[in-house]
Amino acid sequence: MRKKILSLMLAMICLFGAVCPGAALAADDSFDQEKYLEARVSHVETNSYKTDVTLSEKEEALDRKLAVWKAEYLESCDRKVPYNMPVLTDNNIWGSKLYEFCEALPKGSDLHIHGMALMPFDELLSFVESRDELFIGTGERNRYYLAFHEDPAEAAEDEFPVLEALELGLINLDDLRVQWTVLGADDYDGTVWDWFETLFNKHMALSATPELIEAYYRNAFRYYCGNNIFHLEVRQLFFGSHDEALANAKAIRNAYYEVRKEYPDFIASVVGTGLKYTTLDRSLTDMLLDNALYIRENLKDDFDPDNIHEFLIGIDLVNEEDKSRPLIEFADQLDKMKKENPDLQIMLHAGESLYAYSDNVIDAYLLGAERIGHGLNLYRFPEIMELVREGGICLEVCPISNQVLEYVEDLRGHPATEYLKRGVPISICSDDPAYQEHATLTDDFFSAIVCWDLGLAEIKQLCLNSITCSGMDDLQREELMQSWQKQWDTFLNDLEAGV
Ligand SMILES: [Zn+2]
Repeated sequence: MRKKILSLMLAMICLFGAVCPGAALAADDSFDQEKYLEARVSHVETNSYKTDVTLSEKEEALDRKLAVWKAEYLESCDRKVPYNMPVLTDNNIWGSKLYEFCEALPKGSDLHIHGMALMPFDELLSFVESRDELFIGTGERNRYYLAFHEDPAEAAEDEFPVLEALELGLINLDDLRVQWTVLGADDYDGTVWDWFETLFNKHMALSATPELIEAYYRNAFRYYCGNNIFHLEVRQLFFGSHDEALANAKAIRNAYYEVRKEYPDFIASVVGTGLKYTTLDRSLTDMLLDNALYIRENLKDDFDPDNIHEFLIGIDLVNEEDKSRPLIEFADQLDKMKKENPDLQIMLHAGESLYAYSDNVIDAYLLGAERIGHGLNLYRFPEIMELVREGGICLEVCPISNQVLEYVEDLRGHPATEYLKRGVPISICSDDPAYQEHATLTDDFFSAIVCWDLGLAEIKQLCLNSITCSGMDDLQREELMQSWQKQWDTFLNDLEAGV
């Protein structure tokens, strides 16, 4: 009977893809359980997450606490853990000790985040309320759209300051939260991506003038510093003439300088970004990339005049990948830009797709991308995945974005776990927190810890990767690493003291 049960177990193990323990079976077909379990432990070990981190005694103690907080959160869900991570709505997540840990975590850098989608809803709403030149449409034709009027007398009859519209009951807060985030996709007649893009249109007025852009970024940068994120590489589209593009880039840099005076460890850089939708006129992409080069040439990070750095560090191309021109169509253009500007970094969105036929990761690799945005389907290209690992090319993994845009319904199935096991460098990023998150990066770390069962060694490695894989020059990277180390020590001490 015992033999029968064991045979059944083995058959099931083989069926579910585990290693068939051929070596554990003796010639007479008897089962050596001890040998089997020994082999199993060894296979589990070699197939676990790879990190270069060795935990100190203090870190090991925190790792044990972390395991308790993780278990407490899972228990609090009463066996209904929401692995789709509804971070925009679930109070149970925000109220947990594990979430508190993620808030306090010194996260290092956010290497993949889009300009004008930086602040989560509550923060964005406070900012909009604070600006006299911003109005919200309350009529049928313009409902929930922001409008910019330097002279309030120019506002249309159905446009009001947000606070006033809320007080008058013309809009309500819950509805606004739905209409300004991906929550609204549920009742939208179109794909989640279609809805997601309407959100950018609703907020277009936020970039009406360089002054407003500066104020927006100042607010956002302070928010990031307050949330233990001290470096950002912001993907930004620079529309208009050279002068207009430069004025907008200067506005972002001014905001950075101002916030750096308050937070001396803070560093911000931009990545000039083009578009690749098939429906767009290709000349728009040419204009955006040309503006990026113009800004790179004419605007430096000279906050410290003895150490002048690049402010625009790289270029990228975006849009819903499955509906966009493939990267190969931009290969000659990107190659030319790189040859003419050898230090310009290529940081390409690629692999934000579920499909095997979508092979942009091959082009991103061939074009010399220093980092790959998402890389979600890289695992479908094993040879490229190995080259990416060998080359230390970092994947900017955005868990919440991938989930809300419906690439991965249950985050336990995210391929990042595969990359972590294979030693492919990844960094945790937020993508578009304005529309997708409760708190930037905190949500992503929380989700990754719960859904991928991360321990402190992996978490520390991810924070370190965000700095080592950043596009800053060596001096800035060294500075940031030193300040991060101090933050990490304080974080450990605070948690040890139970702060
Ligand atoms: Zn993105």
